Amino acid sequence: MTLTRHRLLVMGPSGRMGAAVIEAASEHPTLHVTAAVDRESAAGVGAFALGAADVIVTSDIAAALDHCDVYVDFTSAEATEQAARAAAARRHGAVPAVIGTTGLTQAAVIAIADLAKVAPVVVAANFSLGVNLLLGLARTAARVLDASGWDAEVTEIHHNKKRDAPSGTALAIARAIAAGRAQDYEQVKRHTRDGDVGPRLPGEIGVTAVRGGDVVGEHTAYFFGASERIELTHRATNRTIFAQGAIRAAAWVVGKPPGRYDMLDVLGLS
Ligand code: NAD
Repeated sequence: MTLTRHRLLVMGPSGRMGAAVIEAASEHPTLHVTAAVDRESAAGVGAFALGAADVIVTSDIAAALDHCDVYVDFTSAEATEQAARAAAARRHGAVPAVIGTTGLTQAAVIAIADLAKVAPVVVAANFSLGVNLLLGLARTAARVLDASGWDAEVTEIHHNKKRDAPSGTALAIARAIAAGRAQDYEQVKRHTRDGDVGPRLPGEIGVTAVRGGDVVGEHTAYFFGASERIELTHRATNRTIFAQGAIRAAAWVVGKPPGRYDMLDVLGLS
C-alpha cells in the first residue's frame, strides 16, 4: 500500500516546541517538513536546527505556505494571528492548521475562527493524551462533587521562560470544571488573590501559576470536601509528548472539512 505523503510547514523552528515538532516529524511515515517560518533574526538558527538543504526557511509566511499541505504553529500570539490570516488568504486554497500557541490575543482568536471557516484547524492548549484525559476526569469530578458543595482549584507549574499565565492548559482544566458544574467560567474564575480578599466564595474556581527552573509542565485539579480532598495531577517531563500529539493532529487534519477541532476529536474521544 502506498502512503500519501504530506508536506509540513513548521512555525518557529528555533523555539523549544518548533524544534521538538521537527524531531517528531522526522519519524513520521507520511509527513515531511518542507518549510519553516521564524522571525528574521531567528530564521538562520531554525535553518541550522533543520539541517536539510531542501527545506525552505524564511520569515515570509505567505511564501512558505505555498510549499505545504498543513502547518503546525507553536509560536506567539502575533505570529499565530499572521499565519492564520495568511493561511486563510492563500491563492491556491486555505491551508489546514494545527495550533498550540497559548496566551492568544482576541485578534489571534478571531483570525483562527476565520481560518476555520475555510480550512480544518486543530486548536489545543495541550496536545498530550494524558492532559486530554485529565480534562474529561476533571469535568466528571466537578459534576459529581458539585452537589456536595466541594471547592475546586487549579495550580500549574512551568519553567521560568514561559510568558503567559495562567497556562492555557490550566485555563482549559478550569473551564472543564466549570462545564461539569454548568457554570459560566467568566463569572466564577479567580486568577489572583492578594490582600484582604475575604472568605472563599462558594462556586469560585481559583487558578494559580508557579514559575521556576526548567519544569516542562505540571497541572493539578484540586477538589476539596469536608475532611477529604482529591488531586488529579498531570506531570509532563518532556515536550516530546506535545510535539508527537501535534504531529498526530497534523496527519489527521489534512482532508477534513473546514471547522475548528480539538485534541479529543483527533484522539477519537469527543
Ligand atoms: P519559544 O519561545 O521557545 O519559541 C517560540 C518560537 O516562535 C521561536 O522560534 C520564535 O522565534 C518564534 N516566533 C515568535 N514570534 C514570532 C513571529 N512574530 N514570527 C515568526 N516566528 C515567531 O516558545 P515555546 O516554549 O516553544 O512555546 C511556544 C508556544 O507554544 C507558547 O505559547 C507555549 O505556551 C505553547 N505551548 C503549547 C503546548 C501545547 O501542547 N499546546 C505545549 C508547549 C508549549
